[in-house]
Amino acid sequence: TAQSLPQSMRAAQILEQGDIDVIQVRDIDVPEVASDEVLVKTEFAGVNFIDTYFRGGVYKPALPFILGNECGGVVAAVGSDVDEAKYGFKVGDRVAAYTAGGSFAEYALAKANKVAKLPEGISTRDAATVLTQGLTALTFVKEAHEVKPGQFILVQAAAGGLGLLLVQLAKAIGATVIGTTSTPEKAELAKKAGADHVVLYGEGRDVVGEIYKITGGEGIDRGVHAVFDGVGKDTFEIDFELLRRQASARKGTLVTLGNASGPVPPFSPLKLGPKNLKVVRPVLNQYVHTLDEFQSYTRELFDLVQQGKLRLSVHGEYPLTTEGVRQTHKDIRLTNGWTAASRKTSGKLLVKTA
Ligand code: NDP
Repeated sequence: TAQSLPQSMRAAQILEQGDIDVIQVRDIDVPEVASDEVLVKTEFAGVNFIDTYFRGGVYKPALPFILGNECGGVVAAVGSDVDEAKYGFKVGDRVAAYTAGGSFAEYALAKANKVAKLPEGISTRDAATVLTQGLTALTFVKEAHEVKPGQFILVQAAAGGLGLLLVQLAKAIGATVIGTTSTPEKAELAKKAGADHVVLYGEGRDVVGEIYKITGGEGIDRGVHAVFDGVGKDTFEIDFELLRRQASARKGTLVTLGNASGPVPPFSPLKLGPKNLKVVRPVLNQYVHTLDEFQSYTRELFDLVQQGKLRLSVHGEYPLTTEGVRQTHKDIRLTNGWTAASRKTSGKLLVKTA
């Protein structure tokens, strides 16, 4: 079933991988809906760091490729197998969707088991703001490392979109949360989100020393129970030092979850022995794989937003134009030679698609 659909739509595509100017907003056909799919008329799409990996070459999608993996919008059409009794939504409902075919477009395809009807009080803008990063933060603090009250939890890049959400959730559970950021302005944001301590990282800064001080003095238990690290290459080595190392404090967990500074290098498992560390490298998709997983985590996420336990922070909203979408990538620029000046974003970037 479907509302009447146009022939063509605007979409932000890449025809080849490369620097920011490979992004083009073009007119292309509105996609066909397969039996297990949903077509969403999008209103807002969320920008994620992963978009730069797909554009720049860290990940290799089939080309041409429409950027974006999440949106808030209205169901425009559903495939023949998608019935309301099973999935809980129908044509015309407002939904959040984790898309399969690109969300920086006027219409986006998603598998029916990755679409959730929005409750009253959650706008399509909220949905695009929180879906991917919120589900990531929520599933990771429960399943990648189960955060417990009283633990020291380190969140690297604590003022990033995901970082701010991880800080809030870990704090709400009752952990003592330590964040790292590159600037004092970002440190303030991380503190506002609930970080108990924020340490500045970067050239010439003694991050390990600072965090040992926070977590205990010389010779006592020190270090953190778990690190959530989306920075990757630049922080991976010190994560090992920062995980607890005293007799009563072995068995820490390194959750390596992203590559903002580049992919982490290969390492020997022998490195885990001295402190019986665990390293996990989760991806959101595998925690919200089934319909039940997706729907129950999404419900929990929206409840947290409605109760004000998870505050959303939007850095900027961009139009669905070539210039607008290129600007999102300038703001989270991934090229050789990152500079502090290019690391402008804190909180979420959105593309307004309607
Ligand atoms: P953001 O852009 O919001 O945050 C990334 C942060 O990384 C920046 O704010 C910046 O903070 C920090 N950073 C450190 N080094 C660099 C660098 N060299 N260049 C740019 N930024 C750098 O991104 P997201 O919150 O969307 O994503 C955060 C991470 O989580 C990414 O690595 C992403 O891939 C990953 N992720 C993984 C998922 C999964 O399923 N595994 C799902 C969702 C996200 P500062 O300036 O303070 O250093």
